[in-house]
Amino acid sequence: MPRVTRLDEDNDTAGTPPVGQTDGQASPRYAGLTTFARLPRIEDVPAHDVAVVGVPFDAGVTYRPGARFGPGAIREASRLLRPYNPHLDVMPFRDQQVVDAGDLPCNPFDIAAASKEIEEGAHELVRGGGRLVTLGGDHTIAYPLLRAMNRVHGPVALVHFDAHLDTWDTYFDAPLTHGTPFRRAAEEGLFLPGASAHVGIRGSLYDPQDLSDDAELGFAVVHCADLETTGVRDVVARLRHRIGTAPLYVSVDIDVLDPAHAPATGTPEAGGMTSRELLGVIRGFKGLDLVGADVVEVSPAYDHADITSVAAANLAYELVSLCAGAPR
Ligand code: MN
Ligand code: MN
Repeated sequence: MPRVTRLDEDNDTAGTPPVGQTDGQASPRYAGLTTFARLPRIEDVPAHDVAVVGVPFDAGVTYRPGARFGPGAIREASRLLRPYNPHLDVMPFRDQQVVDAGDLPCNPFDIAAASKEIEEGAHELVRGGGRLVTLGGDHTIAYPLLRAMNRVHGPVALVHFDAHLDTWDTYFDAPLTHGTPFRRAAEEGLFLPGASAHVGIRGSLYDPQDLSDDAELGFAVVHCADLETTGVRDVVARLRHRIGTAPLYVSVDIDVLDPAHAPATGTPEAGGMTSRELLGVIRGFKGLDLVGADVVEVSPAYDHADITSVAAANLAYELVSLCAGAPR
């Protein structure tokens, strides 16, 4: 059994102190069984504030497969994450109970069945008010995750980081793929159009109508090129102005990063964000009511030296850290 360290033991006003990471001074971080950031499993503690869960589903991809192996690779790359986040000035694993909730079971052959399973599994984790950070999996899973969020919070502000809009209608007549989750979500009113945005959009499209169709769904679009002309600070200000005080859901397709920063993904596009820019924008959400997030489309077979998995693990860490600074 890995040894867990109880942190904050002197704080008797906080009730049961959160169980943090396996102590890296007692057991080196490359040793032991793998959970996200060497945190306890959900069954090891009586309650949680934040669940990190894997969704190993990739039956919705249109090009390179393999994101079903994303959760495992991101967990492995998360061993190096440390207890203090100096950028947000929080101790994300002491200020709240964070757990690894394992992987949700999902049918690898039937997208509609998997979607139901993912929605129910995610709802189980958030129905008591907990926050959720999901490791994908392909982007199809954002649709059932948003449905689960809506059952608790109603429509959310959605900030979607991606090279692609993911609002196509169908692909090979299939209504639910990794290119369509936000069209389906829009049809069901799962997000607040005036409070939502795509960030990092770039690359070739099928038709100019892709952009005009998307605009009708109510998203603001921060094109990747905007980052060059306006910078991280201005992008953050624009996004925060839209989000306001709404419950926030952040969906990160790792292909929003340039292939130099995230080669291991299903549909890479040149000219993307740096990992520093993306971390900067996400840190800019400090103090907002982040209720859920996902990091998707990591396909480890295309990786080199774990570049992509390391980026994804660090993004998940920032998202968990934002939960620690969110209003209660
Ligand atoms: Mn994408
Ligand atoms: Mn996507």
